[in-house]
Amino acid sequence: MADEARPAGVTATENAAGDMGEAQPVRARGLVKRYKEVVAVDHIDLNVRTGDVYGFLGPNGAGKTTTLRMALGLIMPTEGTVQLFGRDPIREGARALEGVAGFVEAPRFYPYLSARKNLELLAALDGGGGGRSSIGERIAEVLEIVELSPRAEHRVGGYSHGMRQRLGIAAALLRRPRLLILDEPATGLDPAGMRDMRALIRRLADEGITVLLSSHQLPEVQELCDRVAIVDRGRVVYEGALSDLRRQGGAGYRLRSTDDTRALEVLRAQAGIEHATNGEHGLSFQADEQHVGALSLALGAAGVGILALTPELATLEDLFFRLTEGNGAQGDNTTPGVGPATSIGTAAGGDGRPSEHPTQAAKRAGVQIG
Ligand code: ATP
Repeated sequence: MADEARPAGVTATENAAGDMGEAQPVRARGLVKRYKEVVAVDHIDLNVRTGDVYGFLGPNGAGKTTTLRMALGLIMPTEGTVQLFGRDPIREGARALEGVAGFVEAPRFYPYLSARKNLELLAALDGGGGGRSSIGERIAEVLEIVELSPRAEHRVGGYSHGMRQRLGIAAALLRRPRLLILDEPATGLDPAGMRDMRALIRRLADEGITVLLSSHQLPEVQELCDRVAIVDRGRVVYEGALSDLRRQGGAGYRLRSTDDTRALEVLRAQAGIEHATNGEHGLSFQADEQHVGALSLALGAAGVGILALTPELATLEDLFFRLTEGNGAQGDNTTPGVGPATSIGTAAGGDGRPSEHPTQAAKRAGVQIG
């Protein structure tokens, strides 16, 4: 369903990898947004490539919405540039938004009108194009895609939050976008609503739409996205493939034992065992296989029985905290992944600036800046 035609005037250009191909859906360089002394966005580079489901991830106040607003030409950057399919929305206005749709913050509708009527008004505002019958057909199609057809004649005021979010996506799809920009599409949804939203975004991506979505919902991003940018206090602390990030995060293990207190002592004394903690989900640590073998012998020698020893890749949540904690939210450096969520994204020096450069945070976490 993606619009195959390249908008007039969009030309081949050099992409992030240095290849010649169609212009990147989103390319931001050195984006800065300052509000007096607040630096909301601090030299952000983004590279969303065709076919990406790209997660723009960060804690509250990290600068996600501000960046998306600049990307959509809604506010002026203080510095830097952003291009959508090679076009600058600040300089070229609506023309740069051909093939692009989405919403920043919650989508808004007339509550006393039906979903269908709201979509008709939006289609008319957008120039209609294609005559009444084709508009009607497209509206029916997008309502079907977001599974709202049975409720199409109901007033939006009676819709649940999840239905309104889905209607927001329907509205975006009216333009047959090749790039969908969604600001926190699953925030505030219950688990079933989140699952439906994930499934919807997945279907749209499978149909060829490039998706840029912001989120602080780690499981959502982990399940949906192939590439991510993680932002913290206005700066990108990681950009690249999610799989690379998780691989570089190191192999983690969980341990259930007959005596967790004693086992933790053994873990902490054992060579090659890192980040040993006894947390909410039991004992966990990082190590390579060779050291895990030696650990099992050491546990046996210490009289600790192993009930279960299971390898697991670091979750995005683990990595997120490792990358974003530390700037004033440090606590115990030996226990990554347990920093309180409320302390990240807000803790900083008195001037509102982080005390550690993100590159250092990324290095500490064992990952590279993309
Ligand atoms: P959330 O996940 O809570 O939506 P966010 O990552 O989208 O957060 P932004 O809304 O972009 O973060 O805000 C980044 C910073 O910029 C915050 O400190 C915010 O208070 C500040 N900010 C954003 N818009 C304005 C504005 N119009 N005037 C002043 N400060 C602003």
